[in-house]
Amino acid sequence: MTHVAAVRTAVHHGGMQRRPMQYPQPGGLELDARDGWLRHARRVESPNCDDRPPGVQPTLFVVHGISLPPGEFGGPWIDALFTNQLPADAHPYFAGIAALRVSAHALIRRDGEVVQYVPFQRRAWHAGQSQWQGRERCNDYSIGIELEGTDASAYESVQYGTLARLIARLCRVYPSLSPDRLVGHSDVAPGRKSDPGIAFDWPLLRGLVRFELEVTPR
Ligand SMILES: [Zn+2]
Repeated sequence: MTHVAAVRTAVHHGGMQRRPMQYPQPGGLELDARDGWLRHARRVESPNCDDRPPGVQPTLFVVHGISLPPGEFGGPWIDALFTNQLPADAHPYFAGIAALRVSAHALIRRDGEVVQYVPFQRRAWHAGQSQWQGRERCNDYSIGIELEGTDASAYESVQYGTLARLIARLCRVYPSLSPDRLVGHSDVAPGRKSDPGIAFDWPLLRGLVRFELEVTPR
């Protein structure tokens, strides 16, 4: 049983088994607190970012789902979108989004690969018009993490495992963050955004994050 399957069982049936899980990043998710970059993730620097407002620390995780074109996985187009290089004529869907200036801090692909676009202490442009508990402009104070996927299809176990490990790592490096402040894009932009979607297993993610913070060594 994989680590994710063990937590899935624990979440839904009680009890926890501890098994190691292989992650695709050979060096793990080491994070350099000085520059806000993961040491071993694939790095694709996005120009679509700026400084957070003075004195504002990240206090919220926003989970997203994305695939380009929608429903197709594995192509180069998410990197292209976040670096303003998406060819508008490569797919009919792209014409409507190629001019967007957007980014996220990180993307977790279907195979668990982590791609980082923006250092975590800077402001990525992922949430758009948004608010959480009455506070607007979530980009100011959040970390945006994309999962490659669609609203209606299941995400991969390795994506949950990697996301949980990344969230736990960020909580340890940035004390302003808490696993209790973990939401989806649809929670901060209801009616406008639906990702990560109805297929997203929040109890599984929360169980995995608890596992990472409580059980695994630092
Ligand atoms: Zn989103």
